Amino acid sequence: MNTSWKTTTLAVLGALWMTAAADAREKLTGDRTLTVIVWDYAGVSDSSLDEMETLSTLLLFRAGIGARWVHCGGHLQGPQPALCDAQLKPGSVLLRIVAAYPGNQNKRGDPLGTAMVESGYASIYVTDIHKYAAHNGLPDGTLMAYAATHEIGHLLLGPKHSSQGIMRAVWGEAEYRGMDQRWLGFGAAEQQALLRAIPATDQRLAGLK
Ligand SMILES: [Zn+2]
Repeated sequence: MNTSWKTTTLAVLGALWMTAAADAREKLTGDRTLTVIVWDYAGVSDSSLDEMETLSTLLLFRAGIGARWVHCGGHLQGPQPALCDAQLKPGSVLLRIVAAYPGNQNKRGDPLGTAMVESGYASIYVTDIHKYAAHNGLPDGTLMAYAATHEIGHLLLGPKHSSQGIMRAVWGEAEYRGMDQRWLGFGAAEQQALLRAIPATDQRLAGLK
């Protein structure tokens, strides 16, 4: 197992039930809800951000997880939520949207994202995402969603990769093609592990008593 806390990412497929996606976002308040605190430092468009969140919500929903997105420092419709400055709690992760990867290219090419598993925060890199999205005929928001979901997967599952699916270390042509259809997802064992990684809502409430 790769013990590095820093992991690079990206490649995935998925089958899209976009009609379900818009609704899914409203209904995702199951027993296991993940709060994703989003800091956009790259100034992505509202439409790309919306597509990222809608599709990532769908991918997590298929794994039995509800997603709640909290915007900080951009895309705000009102005052900044208190969660933006609070310490991360179990069931919460932080996602940074950054223009470019600050490190050197690795042998697999440009990372589309990284995750710092111990600290619970992940980054995705929009310059490279745009490059790979354009090359593979995908909207930026679609690849942002897969990149973000892969990194969120690391935050919940650890640094290990899978041989297929969202958690594959490197996405190939077939995966990129599949993203357009939104059918690629987490494997069955990953879904179980994801559920175990998020405290159930009633457990969290009990913890507050
Ligand atoms: Zn990875």
